[in-house]
Amino acid sequence: MKTNLQNLVHGHNWAIALLENVLAAGNFPQSLLITGLPQVGKMTLGKALAMALTCQEPLKGCGQCPSCRKILSGNHPDVDILDAPADAPAAAIKIETVRALQRKLSLRPHEAPQRVVVMGNFERATTGAANALLKTLEEPPGHVVLILTSPDKARLLPTIVSRCQVLPLRSVPAETIQQLLETRYRIAPRQAELPAKLAGGRPGWAISAWENPAILAQRETQLNELITLLGHGYAFRLQYAQQLIKANALPVALFNLWLGWWHDVLLAKQGAQTQIINLDYKEKVQQAAQGLSPAQIVAAINQTYAALQNLQYNLNSRLNIEVLLLNLPQLAL
Ligand SMILES: [Zn+2]
Repeated sequence: MKTNLQNLVHGHNWAIALLENVLAAGNFPQSLLITGLPQVGKMTLGKALAMALTCQEPLKGCGQCPSCRKILSGNHPDVDILDAPADAPAAAIKIETVRALQRKLSLRPHEAPQRVVVMGNFERATTGAANALLKTLEEPPGHVVLILTSPDKARLLPTIVSRCQVLPLRSVPAETIQQLLETRYRIAPRQAELPAKLAGGRPGWAISAWENPAILAQRETQLNELITLLGHGYAFRLQYAQQLIKANALPVALFNLWLGWWHDVLLAKQGAQTQIINLDYKEKVQQAAQGLSPAQIVAAINQTYAALQNLQYNLNSRLNIEVLLLNLPQLAL
């Protein structure tokens, strides 16, 4: 069987090869769990599989036939794509949603050979919703394919995971992401390189960073803030810490960004300039590497990493944030 998965999905060639074999052999699993980092391509693959499973053309998932078009516009009577809302990514999947879905799944498909459901970020399911779905996973009607996604299978009930074939998506190499941006999105190589490197293996991140310039602008502001902090003393740093503490969200993304910057400084210190991710900050990274000892750089990495861990476990965030900021080395860049 020929599929169009390679064109619908960004990277993940090994996973596609595997899925194509399974599709060709006619034993696609009735329950599939796709795991991987946020924006690595789980939902994109899930939707592409829904298209491949219901397509009316010989090239499965053609993207052109009535069935594929209906999936793309969200109007296929036999295909349900339940994605996390962009404005509320943590919104719970409720038991009512699962029950409504189950009523639909008990009916034979209208036009496709199967009914396909793709549920994004299933860790959002309440215990009630997860237990309700478990019944379908235990005895799925023959005409049903369920595809779940989650960043980590450890975040789902073990009983759910054990009923699914698990397909872990790995991060996509920066070179592959850059190629995708150039060929599919027609982005000039010089402009594609930075989002591809910053994406950390997640094509979806690179694409949204390209489509939404505010993402890269915010990153620039936050890196500049780090550089400013390095040049200032306690009073300024404590003031900045106050701002972070007052903000609604924990500074996880900010500290992750800083961690990436410190990694770059360490690479520069080791003479591995070509591996630097923050390409547009190469000069500042280089200066920081010259101004600091290896021990100071490693300490900055360890402290930022520890602060991130503490945020994850909700440890006293005020103290946590202040300690990190006050421990940053002093350096004028
Ligand atoms: Zn099609």
